[in-house]
Amino acid sequence: MTISSKLPNVGTTIFTVMSKLASDYGAINLSQGFPGFNCDPHLLDLVAKYMNKGFNQYAPMSGVPVLKQRLAEKTKLVYGVDYHAEEEVTIVSGATEAIFSAVTAVVREGDEVILLEPAYDSYAPAVILNGGIPIYIPLSLPDFSVDWEKVKSAINPKTRLIMVNTPHNPTGYVWSQEDVNMLASLIHDTDIYVVSDEVYEHISFDGRTHISLMTHPVLKDRTFVCGSFGKTFHVTGWKIGYCLAPKELTAEFRKIHQFVTFSTATPLQYALAEYLEVPGNYLSIPDFYQKKRDLFCEGLKGTPFQFVPAQGSFFQLVSYGHLSQESDFDLAVRLTKEIGVASIPISVFFNEKTDHKILRFCFAKEDSELKRALDKLQNSKLFP
Ligand code: PMP
Ligand code: GLN
Repeated sequence: MTISSKLPNVGTTIFTVMSKLASDYGAINLSQGFPGFNCDPHLLDLVAKYMNKGFNQYAPMSGVPVLKQRLAEKTKLVYGVDYHAEEEVTIVSGATEAIFSAVTAVVREGDEVILLEPAYDSYAPAVILNGGIPIYIPLSLPDFSVDWEKVKSAINPKTRLIMVNTPHNPTGYVWSQEDVNMLASLIHDTDIYVVSDEVYEHISFDGRTHISLMTHPVLKDRTFVCGSFGKTFHVTGWKIGYCLAPKELTAEFRKIHQFVTFSTATPLQYALAEYLEVPGNYLSIPDFYQKKRDLFCEGLKGTPFQFVPAQGSFFQLVSYGHLSQESDFDLAVRLTKEIGVASIPISVFFNEKTDHKILRFCFAKEDSELKRALDKLQNSKLFP
């Protein structure tokens, strides 16, 4: 049997490709974005506690009530915004599912969806599978800020949705209050929805605060805010996240969620609910990652790469166009095989695979591993 692919241009994700290459060549894996250290042992104890207590059957479809409640409380504490725990908070199997379900809830055949490029790789497939048409708008180099004139000129009656990601993967750009206000002013009198991917909400640097789209009343009414406990608590393998959205949007979102996964691992939900009782568990994260970003950037000064320290996320971009015209993909592969450090070529986050000669390194790793990687990057001949 042959199959006519619904995603003819999609192959295996770059994260899988580069992680496998790193493993095949025994390279230090700074490619795929996942922490190279374990979570707080107390969180593991909590999971064991709830498993042993017998919390091992299906959770309610929208999440266990106590976790929805704790998340609503955290949201109020951090952003000063109210969401109704039972009607506006949904626990899902990772932010990837939140994004897919939110896109599916609103995008119909022929709808246009604005994606700001470089864009996280799951957005366009979610749009295309729902019959939507991605409209790609490039972010502006060198800092990858949003070009609001370009966004404005892309908006038309067919525009159904805008995908936002702040702090941004892969560039680390963090939206300012002006960005949030601009978006609100461009769409306040339209029926455009927003999916706001805020998985790195607790990872921004140099005193910057993450400004959630929920804090703007115009945006709150039309936005699905997607988050990830995996990113926040160093447990990406648990695949557990959430979606915050107004009641009517949540009702539609849950219709999709209930047939994508139905519900999410029960003992993890109870454990996270108890863990969220201590705000320090998430409020300490920016400092923790700031030290890693600083360590990594300090070491990069001893390499030929050019860079501007990331504003947020756990990724650092480096550029090398002043040294070589090698494609970013070829360089990422060569550095993995020959130097022993794996990265991600950011051309993969562009629809046209635009090559700006930039690599992305993940610095969510043990300091010792970062130092070993830096040592290799500093002391090897990277370019012929
Ligand atoms: N959005 C962005 C920007 C990400 O970097 C990631 C993950 N790494 C996700 C979504 C997916 O999060 P999750 O693992 O919770 O599905
Ligand atoms: N979000 C992670 C990254 O950007 C990867 C997640 C995945 O492998 N799907 O590296």
